[in-house]
Amino acid sequence: MSTSGSSKYQLLPHCATHAKDLIIVATCDGASSTGQIGNEVARRLTKTFPNLVRMCCLSAVAAGSKTHLDIFKNAKAVIAVNGCQLMCASNILKGKGISITYEVVVAKEGINKLPSLDFSDEEVSKIADKVVNEFLSKYLK
Ligand code: SF4
Repeated sequence: MSTSGSSKYQLLPHCATHAKDLIIVATCDGASSTGQIGNEVARRLTKTFPNLVRMCCLSAVAAGSKTHLDIFKNAKAVIAVNGCQLMCASNILKGKGISITYEVVVAKEGINKLPSLDFSDEEVSKIADKVVNEFLSKYLK
């Protein structure tokens, strides 16, 4: 699975082609501090482990795209990253019949949900490290 290229952009595996080899991550991308932390966590994990972890479009799943439903259903594993206790990412996936292997709720990890799109690197690292330590580590051995 090639992720490199001559582009200045980091090219990622095509999720539809390589779903079975990838841990697919869905983030609610909520319009709050914790929603944006979750999005950045998914982005960071994808860019750090590009042949293992891949963000995929949760909006497309919610919209009923068969291509995207199949990506999640064929994935090696599925991670849901939720900004708050409403758990929109997890509920969208469950509502579409997709099994979640691991889920996290940013606002339950000692990070307050604020009406802001701003967040700190430390907050992102706290959640990203939790996902790695509690779940991804077993795939990294
Ligand atoms: S889980 Fe919370 S932060 Fe995420 S989209 Fe839903 S309400 Fe917004």
